[in-house]
Amino acid sequence: MVDEILQNNDKGTEELSYLPSADIGDFFLREIRSREKFILEMGGETVKYLKRRFEGTKCSVCWDEVRQQAENDCISCFGTGIVGGYYDVLDIKVSLVNPAVKQITMQDHGMKSIIQPKSWTIWEPEISNKDIFVTKMNKRFWIVNVTPSLWRGLILRQSFDTELIEQSNIIYKIPVG
Ligand SMILES: [Zn+2]
Repeated sequence: MVDEILQNNDKGTEELSYLPSADIGDFFLREIRSREKFILEMGGETVKYLKRRFEGTKCSVCWDEVRQQAENDCISCFGTGIVGGYYDVLDIKVSLVNPAVKQITMQDHGMKSIIQPKSWTIWEPEISNKDIFVTKMNKRFWIVNVTPSLWRGLILRQSFDTELIEQSNIIYKIPVG
């Protein structure tokens, strides 16, 4: 049911015939979002989320105007080229897939299907590739391959992959409280 809604309405151009009014559309949106939130509250874990800055004061320590590049080990911008590098830390809930688990084979009524589990979070805050999160054990990860599930152009859920950042990376110098 949900998948059907997602497919038919991902650009907001096709209206579903069984959604006669915007009011009922709002109802669906609230229902789906509250269900997503509930699932995450039950099974997710809290992490510190750092949103990467793409706008702001250029880093005077390392920014190379000619090559349009920052230094990866810069303590002022953490390799972003923008002073501070990241916005203030935010606690968010995420459902994380063990990186060792690449795919799961499901056996259901004799039918074999292969599922590729994805990490995910709810519709807000809006995450982007190269954002970072920090686990309770202070493991730090890049967020990559962000894929939002949309309904009428509104985000319901954001799926993503994770890449562990090496301990030697300057990213580990960012204070997260
Ligand atoms: Zn810098």
